[in-house]
Amino acid sequence: MEQNYTTALTIAGSDSSGGAGIQADLKTFAAFGCYGLSALTALTAQNTCGVQGSIPVPPEFVGRQLDALLDDIDIHAIKIGMLQSSQTITVIAERLSRLQGVPIVLDTVLSSSGGTPLLNEQSIPILKNKLFPISTLITPNIPEATILCGRTQPLHTKEDILQAARQLLELGPGAVLIKGGHMEGQTCEDLLVTNGKEEWFPADRIVTPNTHGTGCTLSSAITAGLARGNALSAAVREAGAYLRKALRAGSSLSLGRGTGPVHH
Ligand code: PLP
Repeated sequence: MEQNYTTALTIAGSDSSGGAGIQADLKTFAAFGCYGLSALTALTAQNTCGVQGSIPVPPEFVGRQLDALLDDIDIHAIKIGMLQSSQTITVIAERLSRLQGVPIVLDTVLSSSGGTPLLNEQSIPILKNKLFPISTLITPNIPEATILCGRTQPLHTKEDILQAARQLLELGPGAVLIKGGHMEGQTCEDLLVTNGKEEWFPADRIVTPNTHGTGCTLSSAITAGLARGNALSAAVREAGAYLRKALRAGSSLSLGRGTGPVHH
């Protein structure tokens, strides 16, 4: 029988506190009416106060998970999150470069907001070489874009952000979304740059202590939109609206002693 599910796959790490990682991705896929698949790259022991530890899934077993899924199920879009090591990147790039026409959203997760590295620093060139060219979209935040561009000064102005996005686009992804959550002031603007087109998505800043999982939620919401056949710009717009709803919904809730999650 022909498959009649819309599916989205997350290749990412587990967050035991449920706010980020594959847990956030699967909740988001479900909210967008997608059947969620997952291939785990790492386990983290974490709570709302931060990441207490992490262990990688053996890279060959990341490959086994991908082979099992690709062998059996039609996958309509893929999101990549925490990767931890260059061996894992290589295994994933090898599997995904065989696919044709499946949108890939790469959330360039480098560290947690508390500062725990989620990808070894020496793996950054491999991330750029192997995964940027096969990605439909990469979604760095401002600190990540700064590092990926090899800059020492943080991106301050909209012109800085635009230049960084153009620089990252030259490394081969189909599009770059630099997220404006770390901008100063009342407004945060995300910038989407594709070949020949720039689009700013301005939004009022939502003041909330509960921001854990924002990046994961946005990238998986975009992935779900692409899985459902939306154009990139529409998928980014809808994902932003979904994230703002989740931030507002979580703003009056309380979980744990630290930074609580966005609420799906
Ligand atoms: N844990 C996992 C498994 C993640 O994938 C991420 C982000 O991608 C985080 C933690 C960090 O989330 P945050 O920066 O929202 O604390």
